[in-house]
Amino acid sequence: MNKWLILFTILFSWGCTSPEDAPTQKIVVTEISHNVEHVSLFGTKITSYWPDPPTVKICPGAGISIERVRYAVRFWERAGYTFGPIIQAPRIAGYRCEAYIGEIVFRTPTQQEISEAVQMSRLGVTKTSFDRLSQQTIMSEIYFQTQVASHREKIVEHELGHALGWKHHSRSSHIMHPNLDETGMSVIGVRVEDYNARIADMLLEDSRSGRR
Ligand SMILES: [Zn+2]
Repeated sequence: MNKWLILFTILFSWGCTSPEDAPTQKIVVTEISHNVEHVSLFGTKITSYWPDPPTVKICPGAGISIERVRYAVRFWERAGYTFGPIIQAPRIAGYRCEAYIGEIVFRTPTQQEISEAVQMSRLGVTKTSFDRLSQQTIMSEIYFQTQVASHREKIVEHELGHALGWKHHSRSSHIMHPNLDETGMSVIGVRVEDYNARIADMLLEDSRSGRR
């Protein structure tokens, strides 16, 4: 079924040589290709979009508190976004907590994902699955290389921005700037009205190219 050909995108953020040496850390930005494109002020792009407000789920052992997640969700709500409930998945023996359709999930990384994150100097990783034809997000998963990383200021907000669908922004002090040193709380160009405009652009482009 072509419709369910799922594209998988991985948005990495914020590399640093060692998350433990926080005060003097040397930031190394090593991004995958689509993430390094520098964009104009209002040119930030989305990879995909949520057709309905996503539920936010926190898996046991994800290394982040529900309070911290609520705080990050409120940041995006102030920019106009709507989310579903924020829930904590119970710890059940033998059950692996993972993302379901319509969810943004904070989860534990696998050993391989930790190794990759360390190797690539990634503090936080967001993986999003979306429908290639409709460009609608199906689910999104966020994990951190270490618990230390998840406690960094702005990192949860940044990853949540990726989970919403946003790519990076080249403006300094912007929440979606790829370099932790230059990241700030600005949401210029990534507010919900910008999101809706990008969706409209994307759908228009699709109809022109006959994809829909
Ligand atoms: Zn990022």
